[in-house]
Amino acid sequence: MDLKSGTPFWAIRNGLMTAFPKLQNNVECDVLIVGAGITGALIAHAMSNAGLNVCIVDKRDVAWGSTSASTALLQYEIDTEMQDLRSLYGEADAVLAYRACATAIGKLQRLATSLRSVDFQRMKSLYYASHWYHRQQLIDEGELRRQHGLKVKTLSRDTLKTSYGIDAATGLLSEVGAEMDPYQMVHQLLRKLRRAGGQVHDHTAIESFKPKRGGVVATTDGGCRIDAKYLVMAAGYENERHLDQKVASNRSSYAYVTDTITGSLGVLDDTLVWESARPYLYLRRTGDNRVLLGGEDDDIDVAVKRDAQVGRKASTLQRKAEKLFPQLDLSPAFAWAGTFAETDDGLPFFGAHEQHGPRVLFAMAYGGNGITYSQIGSEILRSTVQGKAHALSKLFSFARLDRK
Ligand SMILES: Cc1cc2nc3c(=O)[nH]c(=O)nc-3n(C[C@H](O)[C@H](O)[C@H](O)COP(=O)(O)OP(=O)(O)OC[C@H]3O[C@@H](n4cnc5c(N)ncnc54)[C@H](O)[C@@H]3O)c2cc1C
Repeated sequence: MDLKSGTPFWAIRNGLMTAFPKLQNNVECDVLIVGAGITGALIAHAMSNAGLNVCIVDKRDVAWGSTSASTALLQYEIDTEMQDLRSLYGEADAVLAYRACATAIGKLQRLATSLRSVDFQRMKSLYYASHWYHRQQLIDEGELRRQHGLKVKTLSRDTLKTSYGIDAATGLLSEVGAEMDPYQMVHQLLRKLRRAGGQVHDHTAIESFKPKRGGVVATTDGGCRIDAKYLVMAAGYENERHLDQKVASNRSSYAYVTDTITGSLGVLDDTLVWESARPYLYLRRTGDNRVLLGGEDDDIDVAVKRDAQVGRKASTLQRKAEKLFPQLDLSPAFAWAGTFAETDDGLPFFGAHEQHGPRVLFAMAYGGNGITYSQIGSEILRSTVQGKAHALSKLFSFARLDRK
């Protein structure tokens, strides 16, 4: 599967940071993790910290999948508004999901602080109404979130214009948000894992796996055998290939980054900006003062077709973004696209699927806030392996498909 088109920024900026050895011998471990993107790396870290013996493998270079294409806005806000989640699953579960995402940002911050140069920065998050007729929907959403203790302000049209330079009917300003370099984060986490005794192998594909008594046995493309008590499929959007049941739809998402900009970026200096239209436009700054923006998602699932769209989509994104921020020169320096999968309700899946039994745990952090989900997923799966309960293990499991 070709996960990316064009020139994703993080790999250009950081280069090929760490080459890990290909697996060349049989291995026994507590947890085998398939996929060394941000999801696999966070899960590996959580498992290793819990004293488990971890082996993580990737068929590509580390962080070379969707993680290298990610724009890495870290948001507690789910693509599905809290009021819509409430309609689907009830208020308690909607609140549970939103609160867990808010808490996850703080956990990612603590983790980032313990690593070097991952460009982590706390940010506010501004969600503005794309159309005047979204006004009441946003006002209701703000009210509901405040009722449940989430710190969010509803901004008037005047405040948005005078304080943020944005022309929109209303907006929700949240204190909780962040940004980071996801490529660096993965490399730093896996270096740390190796120092702690974990095994990291790139250019090592898992070709097959099957349950055995008390565990799973997997085979690599190089003919090595890995015996593990648990196998975690953190294979990103390629996870779906291992499930007969369709649980998500593949789409493409487009992004670009500008050159470095001298001086202030206005609201973008300390705020992530996104909107209520679907697909939505979203913008953030980078550590070296560029503007990174994305959106224009479509349902293209064929890499060559997506390749041909990158330039045109970047032009559309630029036109929309410059309308919002006419004072900034938002010409693209590097543009790219990536496969992106969405679930019907915007929630991820973490846990076992009946097709593969209880020892194969899927980690499908699907959604616009996939990285926030990966942090939560690392805790859910660690709890599963430890035989402990987790408040979200049911809502974020495949069992939810039977509830709708
Ligand atoms: C353009 C774009 C913008 C995005 N913006 C944001 C954002 O702003 N905020 C946010 O939170 N999320 C965002 N996302 C989503 C986020 O990037 C993803 O949730 C995240 O990168 C997924 O990470 P992952 O580790 O699950 O997948 P990946 O990074 O794809 O890692 C999976 C790995 O599994 C490996 N693999 C697959 N099969 C095998 C096998 N059989 N054997 C060995 N290895 C295997 C692959 O090589 C790959 O490296 C964005 C995504 C895209 C495409």
